[in-house]
Amino acid sequence: MISVEEALDRVLSYVHMLDGEEKPIMDCLGQVLDEDVYSSIDVPPLDNSAMDGYAVRAQDTAGATKSSPVYLDVIGEVRAGTIAEREVVSGTAYRIMTGAPLPRGADSIVRFEDTDEHMQSAQHPARIGVFCRVPPGHDVRRAGEDIARGQLVLSRGTVIRPQEVGVLASIGKAKARVIRRPVVAVLATGDELVEVEQPLPDGKIYNSNSFSIAAQVLRYGGIPRSLGITPDRIESIVEKINEALDADMLITSGGVSLGDYDLVKEVLAEQGEISFWTVRMKPGKPLAFGMIRGVPHLGLPGNPVSSMVTFELFARPAILKMMGKTNLSKPSVQAVLEDSAENTDGRRVFARAIVRKENDRYFARLTGPQGSGILTSLARANGLAVVPEDVERLNAGDTVQVLMLDWSEE
Ligand code: AMP
Ligand code: MG
Repeated sequence: MISVEEALDRVLSYVHMLDGEEKPIMDCLGQVLDEDVYSSIDVPPLDNSAMDGYAVRAQDTAGATKSSPVYLDVIGEVRAGTIAEREVVSGTAYRIMTGAPLPRGADSIVRFEDTDEHMQSAQHPARIGVFCRVPPGHDVRRAGEDIARGQLVLSRGTVIRPQEVGVLASIGKAKARVIRRPVVAVLATGDELVEVEQPLPDGKIYNSNSFSIAAQVLRYGGIPRSLGITPDRIESIVEKINEALDADMLITSGGVSLGDYDLVKEVLAEQGEISFWTVRMKPGKPLAFGMIRGVPHLGLPGNPVSSMVTFELFARPAILKMMGKTNLSKPSVQAVLEDSAENTDGRRVFARAIVRKENDRYFARLTGPQGSGILTSLARANGLAVVPEDVERLNAGDTVQVLMLDWSEE
C-alpha cells in the first residue's frame, strides 16, 4: 500500500498543463490566464471628478470660509460622459457631476456641501459661494491612476475571478487567452448498473457514479463527457475506452477491486501503462491509475462514497493542474471533534463531517453511518475529517483537520 501523498504525486506526474484558447472574457471565469495583459489606455482615460460639486482653480479658494465665502461665476455644467466646452479661468467655476472629465483650467473640486448651493433658490445658480479652501487635486481622480497606458495589468498564470473579468473589460479587452478546460470522459463499469431513466429490474442498481463524477468534473472546471455504462466484459470496456482517446483524461468507476469481475485494471494493464495500487486510505483503498494510449486514466472504486472521496483527493488536483492552477490542495480547517472517530487498520480515514463555526472556533460532527455505500451521509457533509494513519482513535474534544468540500471552488 502506498500513502495518499505518494499516490497523488504519481497521478500528478502524468498530467500536464493544457494549451491555451482565446475566448470572450465572460467565458474565462475560473480559468488561468495564458498571456501577459498590457493596457493600451489610461484608466481612467482623463482626470475626472470624484464628487458632485464645482470644478475650480484651487488658488481661487484661498481664504474661503463659511462666514466669508469666495464667490465664483458658474460658467457651465458638465456631466459624466461629456466634455466641458469652456475653460475655467480665475473667478469662475463649472458645476460638475461625479465621473465627468475636469474642464480645462480647473484643478480641484469643491463638493456641493461646501458651497451655498443649497441656500440658493435657483437650481443652477449663476454664482456660487465657496465655504472652504481646497488644495490642488482635491477630489480629482487622475488619468491613469488605476491603470497606466502600457502597464502590465494581469500576468500569465492569474486565475480569472469576477474582478479580473472587470479589469479586462475596463481596458477594452473583449477576449482573453486562457488555459483551456480539460475534457474528462466518464465511464461507469458494472453488470449491475442501470441508467436513471430506466425501470429498475431485480438485482440492479442505478448508475449514480456517472452523475456524481460528472458533477465533480464540472465543479472543478472540467468538461465532463459521459460514456455511459459498460458491463463487466473486457471487449466492452475496451470499446468504451476507445471512445475516450481524444479526451484529456478518462475516469472510470468500479472494477478495480480484487473480485472476479473487476476487469478495469486488467484492461489498463493489457492496453496501457499501469500503476495499479492500493492506497493507505479509507474509504477508497483500491485505485487504478495509468496511461492508456496517451490518455491519463484514473480508475476509481465503485462504491459511491469511495468514488467521490478519491475524486476529491486525486482527480480534482489533476484537473486543476491541467487547467494551469498551482494551488492544488483542498482548503482545510482545524476543528474540535464532537464525536469519536476510529482508525482500525492504519489507513488514513476521511470521515464525512459537518463543520460549523461558533465564536471563532470550528466544530466537526460526523454525519452518521460511514459505510462507503452510504451516499446520503456525504450529502449531509460539508467536509472530510481526517484521522491520520498513525492515530488509532480521536475522541470528542480532540482537534481534527477537516478538508472542506464546500469552500473555494476554484
Ligand atoms: P466495484 O468497485 O466495481 O466492486 O463496485 C463496488 C460497489 O459499488 C458495487 O457493488 C456497487 O454497489 C457500487 N457501484 C459500482 N458502480 C456504481 C455506479 N456507477 N453507481 C452506483 N453504485 C455503483
Ligand atoms: Mg463492479
